Amino acid sequence: MSDDPILRIEHVTKRFRGLLAINDVSLVVPRGIIASLIGPNGAGKSTLFNLITGYAPVTAGAIFYGERPIAGLATHRIAALGIARAFQIARPFRDLSVADNLRIAGMFGKSGARDVDATARRALDLAGLAELAETPAGAMTVGQLRRLEIARAVATRPELLLADEPCAGLNPTETAELVGILREIRASGVTILLVEHDMAAVMEVSDLVFVLDAGSKIAEGTPAQVTSDPRVVAAYLGTPEPAPAASAGA
Ligand code: ADP
Ligand code: MG
Repeated sequence: MSDDPILRIEHVTKRFRGLLAINDVSLVVPRGIIASLIGPNGAGKSTLFNLITGYAPVTAGAIFYGERPIAGLATHRIAALGIARAFQIARPFRDLSVADNLRIAGMFGKSGARDVDATARRALDLAGLAELAETPAGAMTVGQLRRLEIARAVATRPELLLADEPCAGLNPTETAELVGILREIRASGVTILLVEHDMAAVMEVSDLVFVLDAGSKIAEGTPAQVTSDPRVVAAYLGTPEPAPAASAGA
């Protein structure tokens, strides 16, 4: 399986004029897992998602989806290859029902308009939205909308799902539900690459974690490995070196 990773990022760099947003990052995502990308604000997580999905061009380096180089392809070509992205801010058709939103998503995915009803139904069930099938999307709560956004991505029948902060703004119950949904999506054979600030959720759900800081990959490994890595701790706490015993009274 690791001989056949779903995604390989090789020496990718992204510059915005003077700013090095992604600095020579390489990483490999094996198939069938939940991998997470974490790091402080501004680390480059969203930028990396934009590069993978074709929303922004790489400055240097290569991205492979399976054997296929995808850096430089248009976003719709990348989506059609089987990479879906769930956005943090869902933009469903508010007047349409949940089920119709998923049918529409199903028409745009990897397998086109085949079996749209069955695909929509599967996505509904997976996201725990079956009871809301006929509810207009505009009447949903924030937590339900987040699930709809994930379901819309799933309805395109991706092999790789990129989810940008799916737990942001959710309460603990909703977060737990979303973690369960991510696991079910993984169990259905879809590989997930997650960006998420909720560390408890990340550590609970991830098989593999990549840590970015200021554009560079500073660590990767299991949740236990990265949380005990001094570089990761320093990146989050802003203490580049072991603190001297000087700070009196703190
Ligand atoms: P993260 O998602 O990890 O918080 P981002 O990928 O959004 O970080 O940003 C990484 C760095 O790139 C930041 O310094 C950010 O200001 C900068 N950046 C992101 N997008 C752009 C852009 N379109 N133009 C200029 N700078 C950008
Ligand atoms: Mg971001």
